[in-house]
Amino acid sequence: MLGFLYIYNKIIDCVSNIKKGEDFKKKNMYRTHTCGELSLQNIDQTVTLSGWVQKVRKLGGMTFVDLRDRYGLTQLVFDLNKNASLADEAQKLGREFVIQVIGNVSERSNKNKKIPTGDIEIIVDELRVLNKSEVPPFTIEDETDGGDDIRMRFRYLDLRRPEVRKGMLLRHKMSKHVRDYLDGNGFIEAETPVLIKSTPEGARDFVVPSRMNAGTFYALPQSPQVFKQLLMIGGFDRYYQIVKCFRDEDLRADRQPEFTQIDCEMSFVEQEDVIQMFEGLAKHLLKTLKEIDYDGDFPRLTYDEAMNSYGNDKPDTRFGMKINDLSETVKGLNFKVFDDAEYVGAICAESCASYSRKQLDKLIDFVKKPQIGAKGLVYSKCNADGSFKSSVDKFYSQEEQQKWANALQAKPGDLMLLMSGDKKQTLAALSELRLEMGQRLGLMDKNTFAPLWVVDFPLLEWDDENKRFQAMHHPFTAPKPEHLHLLDSDPASVKANAYDLIINGNEIGGGSVRIHNTELQKKMFTLLGFSDEEAQSQFGFLMEAFLYGAPPHAGVAFGFDRWVALFNGSKSIREVIAFPKNNSGRDMMIDAPANIATEQLNELGLSVISK
Ligand code: ASP
Repeated sequence: MLGFLYIYNKIIDCVSNIKKGEDFKKKNMYRTHTCGELSLQNIDQTVTLSGWVQKVRKLGGMTFVDLRDRYGLTQLVFDLNKNASLADEAQKLGREFVIQVIGNVSERSNKNKKIPTGDIEIIVDELRVLNKSEVPPFTIEDETDGGDDIRMRFRYLDLRRPEVRKGMLLRHKMSKHVRDYLDGNGFIEAETPVLIKSTPEGARDFVVPSRMNAGTFYALPQSPQVFKQLLMIGGFDRYYQIVKCFRDEDLRADRQPEFTQIDCEMSFVEQEDVIQMFEGLAKHLLKTLKEIDYDGDFPRLTYDEAMNSYGNDKPDTRFGMKINDLSETVKGLNFKVFDDAEYVGAICAESCASYSRKQLDKLIDFVKKPQIGAKGLVYSKCNADGSFKSSVDKFYSQEEQQKWANALQAKPGDLMLLMSGDKKQTLAALSELRLEMGQRLGLMDKNTFAPLWVVDFPLLEWDDENKRFQAMHHPFTAPKPEHLHLLDSDPASVKANAYDLIINGNEIGGGSVRIHNTELQKKMFTLLGFSDEEAQSQFGFLMEAFLYGAPPHAGVAFGFDRWVALFNGSKSIREVIAFPKNNSGRDMMIDAPANIATEQLNELGLSVISK
C-alpha cells in the first residue's frame, strides 16, 4: 500500500512539475503569436510578440511601431497618457531593433486594408529590447532605397524584405512540390559527389587543388551527368536530385557560377517517356504554384522550326509575330542590300504603322547595337487605305510590298520590319527585334505561361574558332537511330534525341536520350576531336561501365533557380537565391573569392603568378 502511495505521489509531482514548466514557458515565451496572424478574432487577448522594428511614428501622445517578422507586420501602440515611461522607451527604438512586447489586441479605428493584420493593433503594456541595431544601410521594405551592390553586401538585411522573402518561400514550395511529384513517380533522390573530374557541359570547370595528391586537382561538377548515368547502370531506374552545379562562365546573361538543377534520369525509356513524365511535372508545378490547369499537351517545335520562325531555340510563344523568310520574294529588283544577302527575313508588328520617324529611328538604333549587330532595318507601313509606305519605295512597288504583306499576313495599320544578311546572324537579330517589339507592345505578360518543347536538335555544332565539331548538348547524347549512318558522311546533319522545355523564352530544362554503348560513345568522342587516350583518361570509367550491361536510359535537368524566378516574376535568378554572387562572380557579403595564406599555398604545392 505504502509503495503504491509513493508511486502515486511521484506521478502527481511529475504531472504538476510538467504543468509548472508549461506555465513558466508561457510566461517567458518570446512570443505567443507571430506578427502576421492576429485579427479581430483575437480582440482583448493578451499576447506576446517578438520581431524587428520596421518604423516608429509619433502622433501626438501616441507612438506607433510597425513590428515585422517573417509572417507579417503588426502595429504596436504606446500611449503617453497611459504609461509615459513606456512611451518614452518606445520613442527611443531604432529601425531593426529586435524587441519583445506584451499587450492587448485591440480593434483599430483606422484600419489598414493592405495587410492581413490591418484590423487590429496591440496596446503595449511591456516592452523588452532583445537586441539593438545599427541604422541599416537601406530601408528594409519592398520599396527600398538600396541599390544592388549595397543590398548584396548586406544580403542578410535584404532577406528581411517581404519581396525577397516571397521569392525564397516560393523556392521552398517548389522544391517540395518537385519532390512530391518525383517521389510519387518512383524517383529516388541520390546525392552525387562534388569533388570530381571534368564534366563536359561546355563551360569552364572550377577546380579545387588536392593537398593529399599535391599537383592534382578536382573539378567541381558542371552537372552530375556522368553520375546519373552510372546510377542507371547501377540499376536505380529513376533518379533525381536537386543539386548545385558549377560553371565558370561569363555571367552577363543572368547566370550564376553556382546554380541549382533539378537533375533527373530514367532507365528503359525513350524521348517520349521522358517528355510525358516531365510535362507532368511542369503541369503539377503550374497547378500547385500558379493555380493554372494546363489543358492538353504542350506544343512541340523542332529546332529547325524554332530557328526559322523565331530566330531562337528558346522562343517566347506568348505572342506570335513569327519571322517569315522573304528571301525569294524580295530579290531581283535592284535593291543591292537584299540582292546580295544570303537571307531576308521579316516580322509584322501589329498596329504599329503609326510609328513616327523618331520611333523608327530608335528601332534602327536598337538593331545596330553591337550586341545585335545588324547593319540596318527596312520598314514598310501598311496604311489604313491599303497602300504602303516604306523606306525602300524606290525599289519596291505597291504590288511588291503587297506580296510581303501577304506572306506576313499584315493588315492595314501594321508595320512590316525586314532585315537581311547572313542567315544565322539575321535570324538572331530578328529574334531580338521581335522580343523588343513584344516588350514594347506589352505582349509579354508575366502572369501568362507559354510552355513548349523544342525537339530534334542537331547532335553537333560547328565551332568555327577551333575548327571542329562540338556537342550541341553534351557528348553523351545519342544520335537519332535513323541518322546513325550519317555520322561519318555528313555529321552536321545528324539530329539527336534531345529536347528542351521552354517557358516564356526561358530555357527551363533540357535533356536527351543517352548513348549506352561503348563503341558509339567512342565514336562520338572521336567526332568531337578527342584522341583515344584523352577519351580514355577522361571518360574511361563510363565507357567501361557501358560494357557491364548498361540499360537504355535518358534524362533531363531543369534550371531550378530560373524556374523559381519565372514563377516569381523576377527579372533575375539572383532574386531567388539566398546568397547570390554578383556579375563578376563575387560574393560581396563574405568577400569571396579571396587570397589564401602562403602556408596553405605551400601545403597545396601551389604558387600564384600575378597576371
Ligand atoms: N546534364 C545536362 C545539363 O546540365 C542535362 C541532361 O542532359 O540531363 O544540361
